[in-house]
Amino acid sequence: MNYDEMPVGREMDALIAEKVMDSVPCNAWEIHNSRSWVLADSCGHKSCFPKESGPPCYSTLISAAWEVVEKMVSNGYQFVVNGGKHDYSWGAKRHAGFNNDNETYHDGFADEVPLAICRAALRAVGVK
Ligand SMILES: [Zn+2]
Repeated sequence: MNYDEMPVGREMDALIAEKVMDSVPCNAWEIHNSRSWVLADSCGHKSCFPKESGPPCYSTLISAAWEVVEKMVSNGYQFVVNGGKHDYSWGAKRHAGFNNDNETYHDGFADEVPLAICRAALRAVGVK
């Protein structure tokens, strides 16, 4: 799959949850004060998200995308993000990259940083 063509959205968010975050959909969550989800029971999952709401919006929200960065860094990856006047591949405005061998960066390009992070992370973990 060419991640530079995969759009933002729930399909990409689900792929990130599964392949990068090792997080699974779970029914042990309950809605709290009509707006936030809390884990009601100990479910035994190392990482999970409410099945009903789906995974965090990794590809569109920088706060969620940053969880991806933290996960990758904790797994030994170096991380870069940059952008500017210069346009990158496919005319993209932002670049993100992960590297775990001090040589090759696995790159993601997009108009927005969260999507660039998601594309780079998926490429780095080797999803075909
Ligand atoms: Zn769970």
